[in-house]
Amino acid sequence: MTKVDPGFSTQSRSASGAHAVVIGAGLGGLASAMRLGARGYRVTVIDRLDVPGGRGSCLHRNGHRFDLGPTIVTVPQVFKELWAACGRDFYKDVDLKALDPFYEIRWPDGSHFTARQDTEAMRAEVARLSPDDLPGYDKFLDDSEKRYWFGFEDLGRRSMHKLWDLIQVLPTFAVLRADRSVYAHAAKRVKDERLRMALSFHPLFIGGDPFNVTSMYILVSHLEKQFGVHYAVGGVAAMAEAMAKVIEGQGGLMRMRTEVDEILVKDGKARGVKLTSGEIVTADVVISNADSGFTYDTLLRNHVRKRWTKRRLKRSRWSMGLYVWYFGTKGTADMWPDVGHHTILNGPRYRGLVRDIFIKGRLADDMSLYVHRPSVTDPTVAPEGDDTFYVLSPVPHLGHANPVDWESEREAYREKMIKVLDSQLIPGFSDRISASETFTPHEFRDRYLSPYGTGFSIEPRILQSAWFRPHNVSEEVEGLYLTGAGTHPGAGLPGVISSAEVLSKLVPDPEITTVDALQAAE
Ligand SMILES: Cc1cc2nc3c(=O)[nH]c(=O)nc-3n(C[C@H](O)[C@H](O)[C@H](O)COP(=O)(O)OP(=O)(O)OC[C@H]3O[C@@H](n4cnc5c(N)ncnc54)[C@H](O)[C@@H]3O)c2cc1C
Repeated sequence: MTKVDPGFSTQSRSASGAHAVVIGAGLGGLASAMRLGARGYRVTVIDRLDVPGGRGSCLHRNGHRFDLGPTIVTVPQVFKELWAACGRDFYKDVDLKALDPFYEIRWPDGSHFTARQDTEAMRAEVARLSPDDLPGYDKFLDDSEKRYWFGFEDLGRRSMHKLWDLIQVLPTFAVLRADRSVYAHAAKRVKDERLRMALSFHPLFIGGDPFNVTSMYILVSHLEKQFGVHYAVGGVAAMAEAMAKVIEGQGGLMRMRTEVDEILVKDGKARGVKLTSGEIVTADVVISNADSGFTYDTLLRNHVRKRWTKRRLKRSRWSMGLYVWYFGTKGTADMWPDVGHHTILNGPRYRGLVRDIFIKGRLADDMSLYVHRPSVTDPTVAPEGDDTFYVLSPVPHLGHANPVDWESEREAYREKMIKVLDSQLIPGFSDRISASETFTPHEFRDRYLSPYGTGFSIEPRILQSAWFRPHNVSEEVEGLYLTGAGTHPGAGLPGVISSAEVLSKLVPDPEITTVDALQAAE
C-alpha cells in the first residue's frame, strides 16, 4: 500500500489519473474520499443534497441552526487519524468541546442519573441509585474495556469480508459471550432496572434493539470513559464542511445536488455511474456511501445479485425509524437551568416500548425521548436569548406489516410529544416556539434514500454484523466498495469513519487500477 507522505500539501497529487467516484457525501463517503485522495486517486464525490454530511447535515430556520442527526462525537481519535492520513491536523480544522457532564437520564419517578467521564463520579451515581450494584458496575466497566479492545480496535478496524476472517474470531466471540444481548449483560451485572437501562440503551443510538443486539456493544461505556463525549462547534455539519474542504484541497471534486441513478457494470466490473440527468461518469473504482440496501436493490438493479438479493434484503432486520422534532424557543435561555445539552427522558416502559418499535412495528402512545439542547454549549445555534432544541423518539420503520401513516400521524405525534416535554422537562415551552420542523421516517426515506426510512440502515444484530453485514468490498461486483452505516463495522460516527479506514486498505493502489483499466481497454 502507498505510504502517505506526512508532508503532503493540500495540492492534488493524482499523478496516476486513476478516478474514484464516491456516491454520497455522508461522513463515511467523505472519509473514504479523503483517504483515497491522499493515496493519489482523483476523487469525485456525488450527493443529491445541497450540502455535505448526509445525516450529519443541518438546516437553518428563523435564525436557528438545527443539527439534523449526530450530536455526540465519541472517539475523536478516529478523526485525528483520518486527518493525519491526509497530512493534516484535525484540531486545526475542527473545534471540539469536551462535555462534562456527558448527559442526564431521567425516569418518570423523578430519579435521575448523570453520566460523566470521571469513574469515581460515575460510581457515586451508581451508589446513589443502588449501592448494592457497585461491585457489579465495576465488573461491567471491566467487561466493557475487554470488548473495546476486541470489538473496536481489532474487529472494527479490519476487513471482515472473508469467511476465514469470521472463523478466526469465533472463539473470542464465544469467550466474550457475544451471543448475549446488551441488556442481558447489563442485567447479569446490576439489579436495579434504572441502572440496567443506563448501561444498555447505547445501541439505540446506532439503530439496535438493546434486548437483541450483541453484547459486544457494551464497549460504548468504555469509549465514553476513555475518550469522553464531545460536541463539534458548528455541529457535525461543520466537520463535514471541513472534510469537503480537505477533499477539494486534494484536487477532488464535490458535486452536490447531483443524483446517481445506477452503478454501471461491464464484464462484472464497476465502470462508473449514470446520473439521473443521463450523464455518465466513468471511474476506475466506485465507492457507495448510499445505504447498502439501496446500493444493491436500486443502484445495481440491472445486475444479477448472488448474495444481496431483493428477497434477502427484505428479510433482513432493519434498524428503527426516528421521529425528530426540531424547534426553536424565544427568550428561554435562562429558563430550565437544570436541562443541559443532552437529556434522555424515559417513558414508563423500556422493554415493552422497545418491543413495540422493533418487533411489533407498532407506534405506541408512550415514548422515551432524547432531548438535544446545543444552545447551552454553542450560542451560535440560536438568536441571542433563545434556544435551539431537537427531540428524538425511536419509532417503527416503514417495512413492518402495517406501516404508520405519517401524513396523518405527524401532527398528532407532535402533540403527544408536547405533553410529555411540557409536563416532565421544559414547562411552558410550547407558547414560545419560534421555528419548527419535523422529520418522520418519510423524510429519512426521501432525503437520504434510506430503505424503510430507517435511521441507521441494517440492524447490528450478531448475524448481521462483521462478515454477515454487506462487505466493504462488494460481493457482487468487482471494483465496487461500500462505506457507511450499512456496511462493516456499522452505524455511528466512529463506525462510519472506521468503515472508510477498512475500505482504504482494500482499494488497490491507483497505479494498479489504471494498469487494469488500460488492460481492459486493450
Ligand atoms: C437523528 C440521528 C442522530 C444520531 N446521533 C448520533 C450521535 O449522536 N453520534 C453518533 O456517532 N452517531 C449518531 N447517529 C448515527 C450517524 O449519524 C450515522 O450512522 C452516520 O452519520 C451515517 O453516515 P453514512 O456515512 O452512513 O452516510 P449518510 O449520512 O447516510 O449519508 C449518505 C449520503 O448519500 C447520499 N445518497 C444516497 N443515495 C444517493 C444517490 N443515489 N445519489 C447521490 N447521493 C446519494 C445521501 O443524500 C446522503 O447524503 C445519528 C443518526 C441519526 C439519524
